[in-house]
Amino acid sequence: RQQAIEADALSPATDADGNEFSIGANVSTLAELPQVARYGCREIGLLRTELLFMDRLTLPNAQEQYQTYRTIAEAIAPHPMTIRLFDFGADKMLEEMPDEANPALGHRGIRLGLEQPQLLLPQLKAIARLSQEFDIKMLVPMVNQVEELHQLSELYQQAAADLPPGEHTRQPKLGVMVETPAAVMNIDAMAPLLDFISIGTNDLTQYLYAADRNDPTLSKWYRPVSPAMIRALAYCCSRAKAHGLNITLCGEMASDPKALPLLLAMGIDGLSLAPTQRPLIKSVLARLNINQCQQLLNRALKTQTTRELGSILNSL
Ligand code: PEP
Ligand code: MG
Repeated sequence: RQQAIEADALSPATDADGNEFSIGANVSTLAELPQVARYGCREIGLLRTELLFMDRLTLPNAQEQYQTYRTIAEAIAPHPMTIRLFDFGADKMLEEMPDEANPALGHRGIRLGLEQPQLLLPQLKAIARLSQEFDIKMLVPMVNQVEELHQLSELYQQAAADLPPGEHTRQPKLGVMVETPAAVMNIDAMAPLLDFISIGTNDLTQYLYAADRNDPTLSKWYRPVSPAMIRALAYCCSRAKAHGLNITLCGEMASDPKALPLLLAMGIDGLSLAPTQRPLIKSVLARLNINQCQQLLNRALKTQTTRELGSILNSL
């Protein structure tokens, strides 16, 4: 019986009509790596690199980062690995970071990397080298606008120029985390530079509602599954589709069974979640039919309140 459960966990995730759906793994530490395959995930949809090295006093150099990423890429190959650039700041502070009055609105994610290229260059070197051997996707956190991608591209060229001649032919696929309202509204401008988009609903909820994601006393003001978020997500999906861009979602919402029919109807291409959550999402997915989901989304987009949305989602 245990074998049957494990075999089922490993089979592809499909909806009620048999359409396959991609469920990747969120990984933050090497210790989590064995869970990826155990729960049937193939690719890594989000490697939170800032947490990978959190136990160290100083950041590892390019060679050390390359070795660590390589260990993970080898375990996952031939499936792709999505390496998110360092997302320090806010709730993930480095020792030497200056105090800020408002860290969540401060120097975090790609801003910090562009302001302090010495933080980012070793990581870009490691990624450039790794991309010659493995299927690597490079994911940029906390992007707001296309100028940041232009600056990043210059830094990447600088990093790749250090590779031996003839060894920088393959570029990683490039994607952005959509986790600020500005990023949502700038998808059209960024799309021509991108291969994929990954929606970070933890931060997108925080910034859409201006409510601290880590403060439990604010939880009633922090509403991931709510009319405003559903409209924002539907907009992201429709713009991504218009540009032929692959769009996935990697925040906590990816493991919320209630959100799944709506995401499916929006045409989301895949989810990335904690591997232990895959069996649950897979079993919910198996009962969902796309027409039914589309009807639900149409109704959801017309709701006025979170409570009204909740009662519609409970009716499925
Ligand atoms: C998110 O913001 O939804 C996300 C996946 O990134 P993190 O939780 O690491 O900020
Ligand atoms: Mg985030």
